[in-house]
Amino acid sequence: MKFEMQEKFFNTILNQLNCNKISQAYLIELNDFTDVEKFLDIFVKLLFCPKNNLTTECSDCEICRLIDENNYPDLKVIDTDGAFIKKEQLLEIKESFVNKSIYNNKQIYVIKDASKLNLSSGNTMLKFLEEPEDNIIAILLTKNRYHVLETILSRCQIFSLEDNRKKEFDSDFYQLVKTLFLKNKAFLSYNDLLNIIPNRVIACNKLSDISRYLFLVIHHKQDLLSEILYLSEEQIFKIILIIEKYLSRFQYNLNYKLALDCFIVEINEVIT
Ligand SMILES: [Zn+2]
Repeated sequence: MKFEMQEKFFNTILNQLNCNKISQAYLIELNDFTDVEKFLDIFVKLLFCPKNNLTTECSDCEICRLIDENNYPDLKVIDTDGAFIKKEQLLEIKESFVNKSIYNNKQIYVIKDASKLNLSSGNTMLKFLEEPEDNIIAILLTKNRYHVLETILSRCQIFSLEDNRKKEFDSDFYQLVKTLFLKNKAFLSYNDLLNIIPNRVIACNKLSDISRYLFLVIHHKQDLLSEILYLSEEQIFKIILIIEKYLSRFQYNLNYKLALDCFIVEINEVIT
């Protein structure tokens, strides 16, 4: 995880704290979980510790000491080795938070991998988010926001701390780039595209990769794939806008094939 991205994020949180505008739920997208413990440590101490202001690190308060010892009663972390988080794990937290905080009036629960919320635990989570209690804050972490239930996403403030420049694209990604942008092709065919992005979940994943990639091409002058060298900056910009528009349509539109058809028409208008 890149330090500048974290720093920017924590400054935003600090601002929210200062203006009393802390969210009830944060969803943080991190493509690299190696430093996740350190990240969480800074995040929760920033929220809990009255002395913490990022520049001076607190060294002597009881709250930080208890957090370091994993004994702070107002912080609960939900994790699982299994495929899914269980609904009971969430209910336990709800029960333990019935006793109001004796320290500083905030209680925080962390979902280590929000993509492990299935329909059952996700619904329980959703109830918490729909009836937020004052001073209870949810922190959800994920490697990919499109793996998190849409209903939950829509109730969180989302931050992406992905290091885009390091993101590695897989061979499917390049296949999709070729299908979308292959030079000298008459037009984009519906069946070709449907083969690569057969449903809306895959479409959201793959197209958000494409959008990020195109964004990098424009803003960081990353090398263009030879397949799309012929596109002008203006065309690329238009394509990003179309993709962003359809990302939300694909997420919420039940008629995926119809939406895909309209998507192709709009892309074709730009590239041909
Ligand atoms: Zn402290």
